[in-house]
Amino acid sequence: MKDPAKVVNDVLSSLLSVLGEKPAALHEPCFAGNEWSYIKECLDSNFVSSVGNFVNRFENDLAAYTGARYAVAVVNGTAALHVALNLAKVQAQDEVLLPALTFVATANAVSYCGAVPHFVDSEFGTLGIDVPRLRDYLTTITELHDGVCVNKQTGRVIRALLPMHTFGHLGDIDGLLALANDFKLALIEDAAEALGSTYCGRHAGTFGQSGTLSFNGNKTITTGGGGAILTNDPELASKAKHITTTAKLPHAWEYRHDQIAYNYRMPNLNAALGCAQLEQLDGFLASKRALHKAYAQAFEDVSGVELFVEPPGGKSNYWLQALVLQPKWASSRDVILAATNSLGLMTRPVWTLMQDMPHFACCPRMELSGALALSERIINIPSSAGLLREAL
Ligand SMILES: *Cc1c(COP(=O)(O)O)cnc(C)c1O
Repeated sequence: MKDPAKVVNDVLSSLLSVLGEKPAALHEPCFAGNEWSYIKECLDSNFVSSVGNFVNRFENDLAAYTGARYAVAVVNGTAALHVALNLAKVQAQDEVLLPALTFVATANAVSYCGAVPHFVDSEFGTLGIDVPRLRDYLTTITELHDGVCVNKQTGRVIRALLPMHTFGHLGDIDGLLALANDFKLALIEDAAEALGSTYCGRHAGTFGQSGTLSFNGNKTITTGGGGAILTNDPELASKAKHITTTAKLPHAWEYRHDQIAYNYRMPNLNAALGCAQLEQLDGFLASKRALHKAYAQAFEDVSGVELFVEPPGGKSNYWLQALVLQPKWASSRDVILAATNSLGLMTRPVWTLMQDMPHFACCPRMELSGALALSERIINIPSSAGLLREAL
């Protein structure tokens, strides 16, 4: 039996062997392209706000990159989720299924619609929704009424299924599509972490009726703050554009709006940054993959922890690299976090599970043993694209 101090030391020395003796952030942006020149173009043209060429160009570039027919750029990933749920007609008192193991934005967006988050379990193979267990659960607790899925326990309609691609890894997409189809749920992907990830060659966020991206400062590419809705449906795309621009009717000078809507459109300044970042995305992905390879070698002989590897069938962006501790070393997690952070190596536990926050404690949920085990055993380690830049 190995002693816990050895696990901590092994993790530390493996990290140091890859990163060297300098501080490393968990994920920081890299501005090595046309950022300055595009931003200057915005300032010189006076188009800094939500009208401007870069917003349209960023949307076109995103659609081309992801293969989605349409991309609609918005102020952040949370707003993108809010809009996507709106487009799926999620209403007050509906329920939306989402993993308990996610960033809080996923659950917040459901709440913005007046709907109730309903938390489901995750599994170790993909870090995503445990589809077989969710299917059993839904079979037990729901019934279809006129083509609508009703939760027999709460009497509420379950309107949508909102999986999240944890750290950029795509889960059981085929299983999720079948589940959405069988239980008549709108499938919306929270692909905030998954720009550049594919499954069977198809880009994250393009499998359901819509998908959402985030370009926050810690994501794979950044616009400062930003997000986007991806969809192949022309009607949904035009609705998304309409409700994110105050539902203003086109007119040369009149201010007429045909519904209550949002001021969610991405400003041109942010989109300028996005255009420059998108040009570098393939390079970022290559260097993140190289970092993964370096970590894989460094951790190969360390027993007690595993570096999480992309699930079969998919190609991940490796947004955040993750170590998964063996069950018997779960109690060493906090010691490892303390030891690494005290050396300036930024490591983090995964998010607090949604039902453990007071404002979501009363939400319905299935049994969450997978999410709980994962939350006790995951450690994210420095993952920036720039970390191995010198090596490339
Ligand atoms: C980053 C993120 C979002 C959106 O975050 P914003 O900061 O609003 O852009 C949503 N869901 C998940 C899982 C995320 O990681």
